[in-house]
Amino acid sequence: MKNLCILGSTGSIGVSTLQVVAQFPAKFRVRSLTAGRNVRRFAEQVRAFRPARVAIADEKLIPEFRKLMEDGVALAPHPSPLAPEQGPWRGEILGGPQGLVELAEEPGSDYVVSAIVGAAGLLPTLAALKRGKQVGIANKEPLVMAGPLMLSAAQQSGATILPIDSEHSAVFQSARAGQPKELKRVILTASGGPFRTVDKEQMRQATKAEALKHPTWNMGAKITIDSASLMNKALEIIEAHFLFGVPYDGIEVWVHPQSIVHALVEFADGSVVAQLGLPDMRLPIQYALTYPERLDGGLPQLPLERMRNLAFEAPDREKFPSLDCAYDAGRRGGTAPAVLNAANEEAVRLFLEDKIRFCGIFDLVGEALRAHTTQAVDSLESVLQADKWAREYVRARCG
Ligand code: NAD
Ligand code: MG
Repeated sequence: MKNLCILGSTGSIGVSTLQVVAQFPAKFRVRSLTAGRNVRRFAEQVRAFRPARVAIADEKLIPEFRKLMEDGVALAPHPSPLAPEQGPWRGEILGGPQGLVELAEEPGSDYVVSAIVGAAGLLPTLAALKRGKQVGIANKEPLVMAGPLMLSAAQQSGATILPIDSEHSAVFQSARAGQPKELKRVILTASGGPFRTVDKEQMRQATKAEALKHPTWNMGAKITIDSASLMNKALEIIEAHFLFGVPYDGIEVWVHPQSIVHALVEFADGSVVAQLGLPDMRLPIQYALTYPERLDGGLPQLPLERMRNLAFEAPDREKFPSLDCAYDAGRRGGTAPAVLNAANEEAVRLFLEDKIRFCGIFDLVGEALRAHTTQAVDSLESVLQADKWAREYVRARCG
């Protein structure tokens, strides 16, 4: 029985994680859940899974959450794995970022699912790694910001990192066909997003609604915009570098609009091994949770028709400068990836608030990287300072 702490349970990954968990009531117990602001969905989840402890990042919403729990909300969207009537829920409610850290590091859980979006996941994920837990990581931004700190925390404590991001899960699965030292090249696939076939000028004028329309995956708003700008793939290049220790020259991106082949790895002998599956995050989530076992969680089979026209093409690096930004920031190392990540988070926020055009994201991230003097990442402080600097830089550039 694994005791789970799910950070960010109300998000797209969090909801899919609970769907997987509900399939295996004998394998997983939900010890704790955390949410940002969506207290209605959170109340539904807490009623369905009855964790002992919960935390809400925005403390002001705790009274509203309590009221929802007293009034009783529906059990949707999850099938509850538990018996329906067990009396009122009497778990503990914590608040604020510190509450999240406390749940991530407390001894009541042995497996933490990191599914918050953005830099906000850094402190709780790092706390779980320091305590030697198994940590399933969907939340890629902290790895990009602070890869060396997270890896050394895991090494010192004996924590295990299991990738949930579909491409990284695919690399992890495919890499098991050889020895780590035999791994020569990692190829991450990208759907290409909604602007793959439109010209650059049209993309420049793109609206929020157009950017939020992802062709193959259904995800949270931030990662959907990142997929449209290929900034998601940019972050994933750096994520792959840290997770698998592959140098940047050995990491490639291929555009694959069908999102069936999630990644390919090439070994020293030239053999290429890939992982395939429908674009459904429940599969990589389930693998990260049940690893090293593979279990039948009732997920849909890959049908033959979806295999008929698999296509691969090189990404347009001039139209999507995000990829070169990632190679540049990754090779510079130190605080450069943290600046890339923070500038992007801030730029995406401004785009979602209609304050900048779509291509403003590329401009702001590129400018922030050029203006930044790279420092070594020798402490959490150095990462947080670079993050703060980049956010202020982007905000100042936009008035
Ligand atoms: P989402 O926006 O749907 O959910 C984010 C979760 O984080 C919610 O529970 C929200 O309440 C919580 N949260 C937001 N801000 C917070 C804060 N300041 N403090 C505490 N909690 C906060 O996002 P998502 O699409 O589920 O993505 C989560 C992470 O997983 C991202 O890093 C994303 O890049 C990664 N990821 C997502 C997918 C996907 O299919 N959605 C695939 C691969 C990787
Ligand atoms: Mg991905």
